[in-house]
Amino acid sequence: MTERRIYLDPDPRDRRSRRIDVRASRWYASVVLNRDEYVYAATQHGRSPELPSAYTEAIDRARSASMDRICYDGYSGGFSWGNGPSWITLFVQFSQVDTAVEALRAAELDHDYSKLHALADSLALPVDDWLAPGERELVRGVHFHSPPSSFLNFLRSKASGYGLRLNARATAGSVWVRPTLPDIEKMVREKSPEQYPGWVDRWTGYIESDTAPIRPWVGGREQDLSYGASPVQFHAANVPTFDSCRCGKRLQESSDDGKAHAAHHTVWEFGIRAPKNLMWLGELAVVTTESPITWRRLAYKVARWPQVENHYDFRSWSHIDKPEVTQDNFRSYLLRANDRVIGYLAAHDTNEHRHWDLDGSRYDGEDNTLRPRIILIWVAGAYRHQGIGGTLVRALADDFGCKIADVSWSSPISPAGRRLARRLSPEGVWVS
Ligand SMILES: [Zn+2]
Repeated sequence: MTERRIYLDPDPRDRRSRRIDVRASRWYASVVLNRDEYVYAATQHGRSPELPSAYTEAIDRARSASMDRICYDGYSGGFSWGNGPSWITLFVQFSQVDTAVEALRAAELDHDYSKLHALADSLALPVDDWLAPGERELVRGVHFHSPPSSFLNFLRSKASGYGLRLNARATAGSVWVRPTLPDIEKMVREKSPEQYPGWVDRWTGYIESDTAPIRPWVGGREQDLSYGASPVQFHAANVPTFDSCRCGKRLQESSDDGKAHAAHHTVWEFGIRAPKNLMWLGELAVVTTESPITWRRLAYKVARWPQVENHYDFRSWSHIDKPEVTQDNFRSYLLRANDRVIGYLAAHDTNEHRHWDLDGSRYDGEDNTLRPRIILIWVAGAYRHQGIGGTLVRALADDFGCKIADVSWSSPISPAGRRLARRLSPEGVWVS
């Protein structure tokens, strides 16, 4: 359908002329009365731009009846329109465009709202009948016309507006329904009737008549297993208030249903999958700033997990450019298990240390020996408390050619790091 513009005022070149624009989308046409400049001019002349309430009522009725029709036809998306006197929007089936244009014109120019009401009446669907209590088979071509599955979708959305559970099933040419009202929905609606104007409970206490049809087995569950159930009771309880997961991600429900967190968390738990084209000749790889790029990229990737977990601003590995020599021999140790990197230690060599007894704030003398210094240790969640940290520190010492007690730890040492240090060198450690 092609776009159309209809001018309501005699001189269409006048900017203030009111006009109706018709635009088509896939499922329906939008018919928009544009009064923007007209309203602006009226306001300038001190006239109130507000629409008479009879006008807005008629528009609301026509719009809602007509949106129902479009959904009944199978459209499952939403609609959006603005409130206010500048634009008046109707969404209609293509067959109703001319009627809608004429109804808007009569309402706007002649203050005749009867055509909008007539439009609403002609489109109104017997939703109340469809959702009446009791078991029924609604037959396509008799009770409704759209395909049963899309009719059922429409009916479900209407039912939820009434607070109903539908217990429904589409067959090839019909839809079986038995609307029931859960106690909780009844309570909610009766507690704040002002939020549900016109809502009346027609369902509670309804007794199926002896002549009601019996639903044959049409697939799915045969019966409503909540029928006759009593509502769930609630109690106040203290719940944990921390908002961060062990992996460092926020625990609050996110817009993606927590998918990003779940993916991140799985890797945190089981380790980072190593690229298939990397050949490991042992379980522990020493990656330096001069290693092939695939290895350095792997170290970079792994470094993301400790970064998120500890809320660091930077990753502990950033060498993903050309191979380069670093003065302090910056390197990382990657430990592999079950085809994933499950342990990571970033280190470099420095020569300014002090000795710490691991308890109070006692530091003994300064030391200028060149020592390997631990920058960061990380172990995948599932592998913690199994000595992996110790394995990594031992690898660092062996690689450097010193004893474990000679290794230096970057301070401040985390509580977990302190436990590890106490286990590996109970006499105290070098810190820097
Ligand atoms: Zn997590």
